[in-house]
Amino acid sequence: MNVLFLGPPGSGKGTMAERASVRCNLAHISTGDILRAEIKQGTELGSLAKSYIDKGALVPDDVIIDMMKERFNQDDAKGGVLLDGFPRTVAQAEALDKIIKLDACINLVVDVDVIVDRVVARRVCGVCGAVHSTKTHSAPTCNQCSGDLVTRPDDNKDTVLERFRVYEEQTAPLIEYYTKQGIVTDVDGTLPIEEEADLICGILKSK
Ligand code: AMP
Repeated sequence: MNVLFLGPPGSGKGTMAERASVRCNLAHISTGDILRAEIKQGTELGSLAKSYIDKGALVPDDVIIDMMKERFNQDDAKGGVLLDGFPRTVAQAEALDKIIKLDACINLVVDVDVIVDRVVARRVCGVCGAVHSTKTHSAPTCNQCSGDLVTRPDDNKDTVLERFRVYEEQTAPLIEYYTKQGIVTDVDGTLPIEEEADLICGILKSK
């Protein structure tokens, strides 16, 4: 089964995709995580991506599509994937249609006020990548590996508002694109985490 998680920045796509990938045994593919790993390794792709990510813009379609073609060729992607952050434009969706067939699209619905509030409180472990919130975890270190928690450079209020604007303009049209394919289910992205994960896994199991 191939599943797409859609939703604005900070809607919980990563958190939900991570949980669902473990429970449904599907590969979790996050374009944001791939790009941040490239930045950390100092690659040419990483430095190109950083110039877009830091201002809240999308990395150009051709760069992302080439990167994802390579990712889909890896063995773990053959048994089904959970896509988080790709596609983000209609051009990317059309390219994806030529590579795999999606069976389900979970559309996480969250208001912009909640998003800004969530994203400015988000902290990520610099060692294991676990995501925390200052609302529920006030310590400066990760409770899973003791690594230092850092704020993503694009998790400040101005950049989040720009990312939300870009989402509305370029990514939200995908809701209609996949509704026409009959595969979209809306999910309230403000439910308690485990309740939301149970709901999503139930939807995926019924597919
Ligand atoms: P995310 O971690 O999904 O919030 O992605 C962080 C940033 O990476 C986005 O704001 C974009 O700048 C870039 N990015 C991630 N996925 C894509 C994509 N599919 N197309 C273009 N840019 C992307």
